[in-house]
Amino acid sequence: MPEAAERDVVGQVLRLVWGGLSDCATASSPREMALFLNYTQKKFGQDKRDTLTRFCRECDVRFACNGGCPKDRFATSPYGEPGQHHLCPGYQDFFHHVREPMEAMMMLLRQGRAPSELMSSYALDDSARGGCSRFAGMGPLTCGNAA
Ligand code: SF4
Repeated sequence: MPEAAERDVVGQVLRLVWGGLSDCATASSPREMALFLNYTQKKFGQDKRDTLTRFCRECDVRFACNGGCPKDRFATSPYGEPGQHHLCPGYQDFFHHVREPMEAMMMLLRQGRAPSELMSSYALDDSARGGCSRFAGMGPLTCGNAA
């Protein structure tokens, strides 16, 4: 719950946003708007966290996904809980798929190197495997082969 002063500011700014400038001209100051945004962001973040399913809380890619947007949590989790993001299986596949290259790019960055160096390494791997036929039809490839 916000402090009294903060609640007041939130109320003022809400009036400002919903009712126009005539209600409270002082609420248009950047500091008050920042307080309002800070409060709403904090509340949104807390609600988002507090409504995670058990399946999300145990998920190994939660750090990247965090349950997705609450408005899209209308599926049922494998534990039978309501409130699971309907794209969850896709999110899990995606984040598992990009984990290795993301970690490799992070390592390159920590060494003061460009993350794009990874592309030449992937191109070498692709080339050693005889090309990128598994990506046929998907556009330009890191190995330089046509899709
Ligand atoms: S990938 Fe699925 S289980 Fe994991 S945090 Fe996202 S929505 Fe939840």
